[in-house]
Amino acid sequence: MLIDYHTHHVRCGHAIGELEEYVQRGIQLGLSQLGLSDHLPLIHVDPATYYPEMAMPMEELPRYVEECLMLKEKYRDQISIRVGLEADYIEGYEEVIGKILDSYPFDYIIGSVHFLGEWDISDHRQTHNWEGKQVLDVYRQYYEAVQKAAATGFYDIAGHLDVIKRFGYIPEPEQAEERIALENAALQAVKKADMVMELNSSGLSKVCKEIFPSRRIVEQAIAWDIPLTLGSDAHDPRKLSDHLDEARALLTELGVQEVATFEHRQRTMVPLND
Ligand SMILES: [Zn+2]
Ligand SMILES: [Zn+2]
Repeated sequence: MLIDYHTHHVRCGHAIGELEEYVQRGIQLGLSQLGLSDHLPLIHVDPATYYPEMAMPMEELPRYVEECLMLKEKYRDQISIRVGLEADYIEGYEEVIGKILDSYPFDYIIGSVHFLGEWDISDHRQTHNWEGKQVLDVYRQYYEAVQKAAATGFYDIAGHLDVIKRFGYIPEPEQAEERIALENAALQAVKKADMVMELNSSGLSKVCKEIFPSRRIVEQAIAWDIPLTLGSDAHDPRKLSDHLDEARALLTELGVQEVATFEHRQRTMVPLND
């Protein structure tokens, strides 16, 4: 079954295309399931003074969910739409996040760490924050946040688990052992929370030129029986499912036969290949 569980659209401010354009593209591509998963609105920084075009305004969230539900119904005979959200983990804001997630009938929630404090580590406008820092220290902070995110129990899917490598900041080769320990501790937290891990193919077109997460992490997740799912993180309907064939090929090579899908926050495994 062809699935794509990670997409964005025009509401977030840095993607293009209406939700319906993603749906129509998904039908064209022959997807069985399409997950709509736009960003959680900003909650810990003031959208008026922070970097612009980060996420939809809070007042748009109900309209986003309504539109997703409308499309789910409208296209039900052609494609299975799943209504999701890519929700940040922001330390100290757990109560607010939990309340928002409980307020809507989501099929699934992707848990992603983008923010270390007020620094969005996935924003190309903010890479100056790396200056003067030890790369490994930032990795430690990032993976500790991933562990805390998993421990909240808010999330179904661990999004782009090693996105901290996105702009090519990688610890020194002699620090590999500690980097691997950090990655594995985060993976263990994902397993303990009974979450699934996403293979996010967008990394292949970023500075790091590598899938999120790395092959090593994917192999470790498989060894620990962590279920996997697939997402392209498309921010343009024309790029829907870009590079997902490579993610699927990797899973096939590693002997994976099923991927995780969700409806009403319930997980169902489906065949990776028909
Ligand atoms: Zn985005
Ligand atoms: Zn993300």
